[in-house]
Amino acid sequence: MKIPDKVKVGGLEYRVVTTDILKKGESYAGEIDYMGCEIRLKPHESKQSQYQTFLHELCHALYVHCGYYDHDEREIESLSQALAMVIRDNPGLLGGGGDANPTCGKGIGISDEDLQYLMNRVAGAYKNYINLAGDIDAAKTS
Ligand SMILES: [Zn+2]
Repeated sequence: MKIPDKVKVGGLEYRVVTTDILKKGESYAGEIDYMGCEIRLKPHESKQSQYQTFLHELCHALYVHCGYYDHDEREIESLSQALAMVIRDNPGLLGGGGDANPTCGKGIGISDEDLQYLMNRVAGAYKNYINLAGDIDAAKTS
């Protein structure tokens, strides 16, 4: 899966740049700047790790788009991992399908719009699941 130069989330278009300089510091692989509409990725990582980091930062953008501002990093990470898995394991699921995929070699080629649609769907479903799980936990204890 190719990392796009830009990705639109709702009305915002985030530039995706590769840079060594992250405001968050040396130990991070990437970051998202909501005000500057920029997703920054460290260059030294493997293409696969970079793509995973891209999905992670994109999940942050989706959460903000959906009105969730308090992000649990573990939740974002598990969502982005699950999304990468679904994209990898279902070549052609979102249309496109014919393009070579340098990341995993499984022939996935999807448009930014399709990716955005999937991210929104997955984020919504995941959030509903978490809310439901919370309700069940609350029901058990009360
Ligand atoms: Zn994060």
